[in-house]
Amino acid sequence: MNRTFDIAVVGAGAAGIAAAVTAARSGCATILLDERSAAGGTGGFSGLTTLCGLYDEEGNFLNEGFSREFAGALADHSNETRSTATNFQAHSLNVVKMGRVLVLRYQQEAFRAAAADLLGSTPHLKTSWSTPLAGVDVEASRIVRLNGFDVGAVIDCSGSAQVAGAIGEECLKTDETTQSPAILFLLLNVQHSFTTPAATAQVLLPLARAGFPPLSFQSDLLQDRVTVKFTGRPDQVKDVIAFLQKNISGFENCHSPQSEFKPTQRSGRMIIGRYLLTGQDVLSAGKFPDAVARCAWPIEQWGADGTASFRYLAAGTHYEIPARSLQSRQVPNLFMAGKTISADTDAIGSARVMGCCLATGEAAAVLAANFLDKKFHG
Ligand SMILES: Cc1cc2nc3c(=O)[nH]c(=O)nc-3n(C[C@H](O)[C@H](O)[C@H](O)COP(=O)(O)OP(=O)(O)OC[C@H]3O[C@@H](n4cnc5c(N)ncnc54)[C@H](O)[C@@H]3O)c2cc1C
Repeated sequence: MNRTFDIAVVGAGAAGIAAAVTAARSGCATILLDERSAAGGTGGFSGLTTLCGLYDEEGNFLNEGFSREFAGALADHSNETRSTATNFQAHSLNVVKMGRVLVLRYQQEAFRAAAADLLGSTPHLKTSWSTPLAGVDVEASRIVRLNGFDVGAVIDCSGSAQVAGAIGEECLKTDETTQSPAILFLLLNVQHSFTTPAATAQVLLPLARAGFPPLSFQSDLLQDRVTVKFTGRPDQVKDVIAFLQKNISGFENCHSPQSEFKPTQRSGRMIIGRYLLTGQDVLSAGKFPDAVARCAWPIEQWGADGTASFRYLAAGTHYEIPARSLQSRQVPNLFMAGKTISADTDAIGSARVMGCCLATGEAAAVLAANFLDKKFHG
């Protein structure tokens, strides 16, 4: 007989980690599967160093619950000393201002370790790694089986609406003219600081003069490590590294621990759910009676030439994400979280940041658990 899970979560990035832990904590037998070998998704594996979307402008958490818990777990795994500043409820020395918004700096090893700890210590939760989505069966407009398991509800946290796509739900494709993918790679042994624009220009100008496609550098919590965001082709990465080693002081002994350089999608594919969150909702700080998460991150747009534009909400405001944006229109036991929620290209340019993914992951799990509770208890 097939094993039964109340809830199956597909994808173990920020959204899936939050969804799986929350679902299992609510007493639902939960399975979390991912084609990767461990939990972390983009936040844990791509070399990112900033968790965005957690805080309002004053450093208060926009969403309590799992987002706050995960930020705390990250701090614990970074051996960080917490700040005691009273007006700064984030309580973290790694919270820094980036433009007009606050971000939490982290190490990707800490992200993976925090995820592994939270998942490993949660009862009722089974994880299945190196497990691609392999089949979804629908009967009478309900998902009844996923990868051969009988399931009561499914949360699609795949970042690219894999479950929704597999069952023919209507989806929006990402717009690569405004959400252009980038290759993210780590460089170790870098003896160059990127703390001032002048220091950054010392590296960027020679690369631009040599004709390389645009790139940017993001310093890490570890002194000699940086993440590079590169808009060129994968086969150009080794030339970039060789150029840096040969021509830029402080990069002589740098190297990347990665063997593969693949473009990372900024936004994947979004399902069209019961409500399509729009860019207008974001910029007008939209509020909803069925709100389940808050976000104040600007709409980011990234062109193929590496240029970025940021459209901010009015100071001190945030928008809400309604439950309907996490719910399928056709299939009542399918929920979405993270960058696969029902949002247009503009809205997802804001709502895809990881702080928001953590919040929608938690919310989708509550919705799925409530759905099952209603189904079984009236
Ligand atoms: C270049 C770039 C820079 C960014 N910078 C930042 C930043 O600085 N700060 C920030 O907060 N956000 C940033 N983001 C956005 C953020 O990283 C993502 O939007 C967020 O991590 C998405 O989380 P998620 O859980 O929805 O999906 P993901 O983290 O993408 O997780 C999806 C998971 O699903 C799994 N999966 C996919 N398909 C299948 C399948 N068929 N079967 C099984 N498993 C599957 C994947 O392996 C993956 O682990 C950036 C994104 C990019 C691309």
